[in-house]
Amino acid sequence: VTCDCCMKSSFSGLRYKCLICFDYDLCQSCHDMKAVSSRHKSSHSMQCIPTRADMGILYSGEPSSSLVIQSFSCPHCSKMGFNSQLLADHVRTCHRDRISVEICPICASLPGGDANHVTDDLSQHISTSHQRPILELVRLFFLLVIVFILKLNKLQLLGI
Ligand SMILES: [Zn+2]
Ligand SMILES: [Zn+2]
Ligand SMILES: [Zn+2]
Ligand SMILES: [Zn+2]
Repeated sequence: VTCDCCMKSSFSGLRYKCLICFDYDLCQSCHDMKAVSSRHKSSHSMQCIPTRADMGILYSGEPSSSLVIQSFSCPHCSKMGFNSQLLADHVRTCHRDRISVEICPICASLPGGDANHVTDDLSQHISTSHQRPILELVRLFFLLVIVFILKLNKLQLLGI
């Protein structure tokens, strides 16, 4: 990752990714200076992401840094501190008639995720991609089991 303002590459500390401009990142100090460019305005929402260098610390269980990655910014109003569920609800209720496309702050924060995942329905995208699809599968499986048991009972009642 290169800072799009000072062009420093592989900086450490926090990185700030614009959720409006495609592939626009700032280092901590440029973000603090409220760096702008021809396309980027200081009013744009930014997602704060720990850099790879800090990811090591993050996954060895440092509690203060793991809070950072649980805190997503809304691409529309710059509000921060959402988890994936709250962000999906917030976008659905507060930004119903939005027209712009959105860069998913959760994909952008995930190590190995698609850093510039653009979607035109963020709440839909979050509920399909970031809310434990496993749980849905388990629910579906139980439903099938129940249907199967009911059918079995019916067959037994009929004496087959
Ligand atoms: Zn910079
Ligand atoms: Zn921007
Ligand atoms: Zn918002
Ligand atoms: Zn996503």
